[in-house]
Amino acid sequence: MKENFLNTSIDYLKGVGPNRAEILKKEFKIFTYYDLLIFFPFRYIDRTKFYLINEIQKSNSDVQIIGRFTEIYYHKNIKTNRLIGTFNDGCNSIEVVWFKAAKWIEKSIKLNTDYVLYGKPNWYLNKFSIAHPELDFLKEFNKKQVKGLLPVYSSNERVLSRGITNKFFREVIFNIISSSSLFLKENLSKNINEKYNFISKYQAYKNIHFPLNQELLSKAESRLKYEEFFYMQLEFLMSNISKKSKFKGFNFSKVGDSFNNFYSSHLTFSLTNAQKRVVKEIRKDFSSNAQMNRLLQGDVGSGKTIVALLSSLIAIDNDFQVCFLAPTEILAQQHFNSLNESLSKININVSILTGSSSKKDRINLFSNLIEGKINILVGTHAVLEDNVRFKNLGFVIIDEQHKFGVAQRSKLWKKNINPPHVLVMTATPIPRTLAMSVYGDLDISVIDELPPGRKVVKTFHRTDRNRLEIFKFLKDEIKRGRQIYIVYPLIEESKKLDYKDLMDGYESISREFPNNMYQISILHGRMKSEDKAIEMKRFKDGKTNIMVSTTVIEVGVNIPNASVMVIESSEKFGLSQLHQLRGRVGRGSENSYCILMTSNKLSSDARKRIKTMTSTNDGFKVAEVDMEIRGPGNLLGTQQSGLLNLKIANIITDKEILESAREDVKEIISMDSNLIKIENKLIKEEYNKKTKNTLLWKHIS
Ligand code: ADP
Ligand code: MG
Repeated sequence: MKENFLNTSIDYLKGVGPNRAEILKKEFKIFTYYDLLIFFPFRYIDRTKFYLINEIQKSNSDVQIIGRFTEIYYHKNIKTNRLIGTFNDGCNSIEVVWFKAAKWIEKSIKLNTDYVLYGKPNWYLNKFSIAHPELDFLKEFNKKQVKGLLPVYSSNERVLSRGITNKFFREVIFNIISSSSLFLKENLSKNINEKYNFISKYQAYKNIHFPLNQELLSKAESRLKYEEFFYMQLEFLMSNISKKSKFKGFNFSKVGDSFNNFYSSHLTFSLTNAQKRVVKEIRKDFSSNAQMNRLLQGDVGSGKTIVALLSSLIAIDNDFQVCFLAPTEILAQQHFNSLNESLSKININVSILTGSSSKKDRINLFSNLIEGKINILVGTHAVLEDNVRFKNLGFVIIDEQHKFGVAQRSKLWKKNINPPHVLVMTATPIPRTLAMSVYGDLDISVIDELPPGRKVVKTFHRTDRNRLEIFKFLKDEIKRGRQIYIVYPLIEESKKLDYKDLMDGYESISREFPNNMYQISILHGRMKSEDKAIEMKRFKDGKTNIMVSTTVIEVGVNIPNASVMVIESSEKFGLSQLHQLRGRVGRGSENSYCILMTSNKLSSDARKRIKTMTSTNDGFKVAEVDMEIRGPGNLLGTQQSGLLNLKIANIITDKEILESAREDVKEIISMDSNLIKIENKLIKEEYNKKTKNTLLWKHIS
């Protein structure tokens, strides 16, 4: 019975009726009393203040006056038929006007009775008037306590035309709240409520709709936001546990010769503390008997690859094979080259498979793979195909994971009896808050430290007017022995046009940098892959000074001697892409520069992107602005996460609350993973209720 009250269909609600019920369901998905309770206001009007008529200013957007109608009459002329009332506050009068529904209003208005009038003052012909005000009898106004901050609910023409106004919402919601004190049961534990000094659940609902003052409103908001995050994180982390118990993982119990040998004799630099920490985290997962599912976030250039390499050696020491997946052929090739170079000395076999591997190579590779002769297979999407079979795949690394879909990644799971351990790496940092929400069931490692000696990439915004000065600058850099990228946008929809832009650009650069003095590489998606590889190699080996390219070099490419990144038409790029491109330079110890070329006309979003780039090098900050501009809905994976169902909490502006809620959930689960302790009883009940109806979110990787 208790549950039932809030589940009552709105069809039965007084003042609603079948027509309005229909439209509420259709427009706002409001089916039950409870749905009305969680139809939160989107703003509030301060109705603690009352105005005298002679206090009204042109700057007032709305005013509230106590007074009486002294007369009401029609003003007719050829064009209009208005109903006019004279409203008097005891000293002065103001004209009140209705253009529509006048008959009904004329009948309902009582003369010489105290009203609270609320509306927007208009200044016209040297006096104020108010059209279509909201009216409450003073007596009822006091009784109903529709004072303090008044809620404003979202609305549209279709619902307004059925009389579903703010006033309507206020009344029905007020009625439901008044009868729900018994039904809105506490659902957070005593500990949590005490820790944050939360108001009760019932009080929170009451005050989110009808706050008597700002302070109570804030209290209601913080509790409801916390609660929303808390249960979201509880579902994530519980599903994480159930996944861990469901998927047994290979146990990599030892750290053997390959690892030790490489670490002590072939590592050319010492690891940063952050890298050491992450390697430790991975080692711990490897020997935990459960499948690892770890997201490694680290800004561009933070040194994720070496972490992947060291982890791979542990897998190999335990007689398992490794698959290293990269989103582009160029990147796969680069990883292959550098792994091969580092690992051939210790007799580790690295092979590569991409879309352009020849048939002959494939046959060879497939048999070596299944015989276990290959230790690490580097590749693009091609490695996902069913005919790619391993002898004993134990560890999968996915570089730049945002380039892969969930379905693609899940294919790798099936390549052994148990799913391999998975490490996904990203340099397009999803802000940590979002990662926690979207990838709540992944463990997260962060490399939050750049290798020593790195300098920030100095970033400038320039336009066509500055061409000559830029050319001179580029020539100076080349004189110093540095290399330069010049990147043109490649947007799928207008490939032809972009190709032309690239070629035009190449031509003008060739004129400016004549080939008796300078060597220029060119790289774009239409080239054959072996030609791409040749151009890449020429640039990498320092044989060319300038690399003119489309965004094929966007991710991962690592050429430390390149020190300038010029991005043409940079207003056409998204923020994360700009940051990725900038990450191609600043990889050595030289000063590096990123020059953002734009036209003179910029949209406000484009201006914000450019400004963000010139003001910070921190990929996490960039990612947060990116999310602000684009909204979480456009980021990858958010559809699955239920993130868009958040009613009141906002992962950007409320991230501190999200973090606290997550920490609390972790603590509770670590001590009571089945929520059987008496102090977690309320949480368990709410959790069961919530998960009964929702499918658990799919595994992300
Ligand atoms: P990303 O995280 O963007 O994938 P990489 O793994 O490509 O970065 O590393 C960028 C560069 O930094 C590489 O040249 C790599 O050899 C170098 N590097 C990585 N770790 C360190 C370190 N601890 N000290 C010095 N250089 C490092
Ligand atoms: Mg990388």
